[in-house]
Amino acid sequence: MEHELRAEYVDGRAAADPMSEIKVWHVVRSDSTTAMCGRELEAAASTRSTDDWGTPGLALCHACGALYLREQP
Ligand SMILES: [Zn+2]
Repeated sequence: MEHELRAEYVDGRAAADPMSEIKVWHVVRSDSTTAMCGRELEAAASTRSTDDWGTPGLALCHACGALYLREQP
């Protein structure tokens, strides 16, 4: 199953808000806006590849991380 990272923004700001800052990255199944931890994310939110997993300074949702790693072979 394909996964990608999708951003949650600080203070619930919209992805289109120029002041928005990314708070944490969640893991979603491709083309989904529901994170593996159950959080609903904006369709307009930034995404990036799960290949970026483990990048220093990248804030990842711990709940998503645990669930995602469990799905990996
Ligand atoms: Zn999450």
